[in-house]
Amino acid sequence: MDKNMLSKYSFGIGDRFTHQGKYQLKAFIEAEKAGVNITPVWNKSYREHTTVGSKPDSVLGQAQKVTKELNWKHSFAVDADHITLETVDEFIPHSNFFTVDVANYIGKKADQISIDLFIKRIRSLFLDELKIRGLDKPLNLTISNIREVANKFLFAIQHAAKICEYIKSKKGDEPFLIEISMDEVEVAQTPVEIFLILHMIVQNQIPITTLAPKFTGRFNKGVDYEGDLKKFESEFEDCLILMKYGVQHLGMNSNQKLSVHTGSDKFSLYPIINKLIKKHRTGLHLKTAGTTWLEEMIGLAEAGGPAFEMAKSIYKESLERYDELTGPYQTVLNIDLNKLPTAKEIDTWSGTLFCESLRHVISNSTYNPSFRQLIHTSYKVAAERGNEFYGLLKDNEEIIGKNVYENIFFRHIKPLFID
Ligand SMILES: [Zn+2]
Repeated sequence: MDKNMLSKYSFGIGDRFTHQGKYQLKAFIEAEKAGVNITPVWNKSYREHTTVGSKPDSVLGQAQKVTKELNWKHSFAVDADHITLETVDEFIPHSNFFTVDVANYIGKKADQISIDLFIKRIRSLFLDELKIRGLDKPLNLTISNIREVANKFLFAIQHAAKICEYIKSKKGDEPFLIEISMDEVEVAQTPVEIFLILHMIVQNQIPITTLAPKFTGRFNKGVDYEGDLKKFESEFEDCLILMKYGVQHLGMNSNQKLSVHTGSDKFSLYPIINKLIKKHRTGLHLKTAGTTWLEEMIGLAEAGGPAFEMAKSIYKESLERYDELTGPYQTVLNIDLNKLPTAKEIDTWSGTLFCESLRHVISNSTYNPSFRQLIHTSYKVAAERGNEFYGLLKDNEEIIGKNVYENIFFRHIKPLFID
């Protein structure tokens, strides 16, 4: 594994239609000018590829093209996002970062021998309670507690190990990075769970670079965090401390770090995250979700003419196909149907009104999170418009690019890493 593939800070950028790489990368160049090195990680999931009809090689192709064009001298990564054993094959030649999603395996029970062995090992190392400096409470490591955690997570980690071995068997000596993600579950993992999960990861010899736990609260797509900020703060800090514990005491990768999924637009969390990663001098990976696609829609509306017509027509069709489009995202949306403008209303809207309703500026009273979340899901409609849509992206490249860049740099990277 090449440990130098990610800097301390890395930032996942999704680009559904592979048109905005240049403007996304520009935000990293600005960060570098401000003295902060951040590795760009272009991520795209199997679901996104299927929805827009693209293939994993296009992500790598664009990354290579724009890093050359903008003379980016540092590393970059291409993330096969939320892959499983069934979907990973096509990604392998074109990715150097694999997000192994174990959410579906949590709660499935490993074989009894592995569970008993795990309990025995942990008990040979620790007594009932373990104090870790920085954590509020000692970790409760009684046999029954360990058993409960092993019953819930060991199978999932064993499965992750299987996927990693499979990738390794295909990649050979070529270095790649592993993230284990368990964010797509209902309940946040406790400190004891994280602690024991790290042990399972080490015992199963998975060389992770990042771990994406679930945090309390709602990480809805395209909008700010909804939840208890104090609770998030303490969970996030506990996770940082435990990840550091893994490096210092379990021999995990020295550059291993936490990953925050659906991290775009979580503006109320950024000052907390910024403060804590600096306090603990740890790294961070933050993965965005669809925020660039929303800037494409804003740019089209701002451009006016046929571009604005396209943006309006995509929205109107999304209204008609509401159930189909929002279905796959049901658990990560919070749309107030009464707040969605009707097709008739949209026809009377100016480009400015459309932009201001969509652009994520909380202080602007026109901003409409319900409108924004529906449009988050409507990229499928855009993809169906095919060349007509792609042509408009090209024709209005500059105005769209400006929105893409400003969103990533000023609203995300700056408050997260620089301020
Ligand atoms: Zn995720």
